[in-house]
Amino acid sequence: MCGLILNGRTGGFSDVELDTGFWGKYSMTPLLLNLYIFLLGMCVGSFLNVCIYRLPAGRSIIQPASACTGCHTPIRWYDNIPVLSYIFLRGRCRTCHSAISPRYPIVELLTGSFALAIWLRFGTHPPTAAVYFVFIAALLVITFIDIDHRIIPDVISLPAIPAGLALSFFLPPVSWLDSLLGIVVGGGSLFIVAWGYHLLTGKEGMGGGDIKLLAMIGAFIGWQGVLFTIMASSFTGTAVGLAVMLRARKDMKMAVPFGPFLAIGAILYLFFGPRWIEWYLHRFLV
Ligand SMILES: [Zn+2]
Repeated sequence: MCGLILNGRTGGFSDVELDTGFWGKYSMTPLLLNLYIFLLGMCVGSFLNVCIYRLPAGRSIIQPASACTGCHTPIRWYDNIPVLSYIFLRGRCRTCHSAISPRYPIVELLTGSFALAIWLRFGTHPPTAAVYFVFIAALLVITFIDIDHRIIPDVISLPAIPAGLALSFFLPPVSWLDSLLGIVVGGGSLFIVAWGYHLLTGKEGMGGGDIKLLAMIGAFIGWQGVLFTIMASSFTGTAVGLAVMLRARKDMKMAVPFGPFLAIGAILYLFFGPRWIEWYLHRFLV
């Protein structure tokens, strides 16, 4: 007995109807499915926290199990439930009562929200949704590591470049040529900017990590996406950099890591980029 009845229109999840049979209890309405994806995303976020914390130290992200950074007591499974445990424990370790950074639940909530947003945007083609969720997860890890340590880990950005190119052969949104040009434009343009800055000032401006990150972004969203990312991150980066500079009166380059702005630009493109480019072309060129 089949519990799911497809009602004959198209095959998407929203067309799945429930009957009262055995499987009916376990199959999902769109609302439940969305909730499930959000919760699953938060669990992935919990793993991203481990990556953010351990990758810069060169530690394994698989073992040992997570422990309190204060007293090194291993965290029990019921104290490791995304967001909820943080609320129940009121942000403190159960054993030593030292404060747990609110960053942990924030990363979990962000990851859950992005999982849901990606599903709503690309859900009609699940492989694309899966790849872009992994892409955003990598950007989240890179962003928080860059904020903490001012480095972009090669261990993520370098393998992601060929991976993005290889995946472009199977995913509809970006052709392999767009992806290849994205790597060249992304890696090349920032390299030229960094080289020019070095010529003009004699100082190291942009890190090599930023160049590799933009090449990775190009591999996943193509050369159009890279150009958009450079524009968007220049605007947001300059605005935030100026604000920080005015407040702290410090060297902008030292005050603000650039990786997070590249990540924000790439994510904006993923969700809204094609629409903005279309609007721009109609408004100014046609
Ligand atoms: Zn503790």
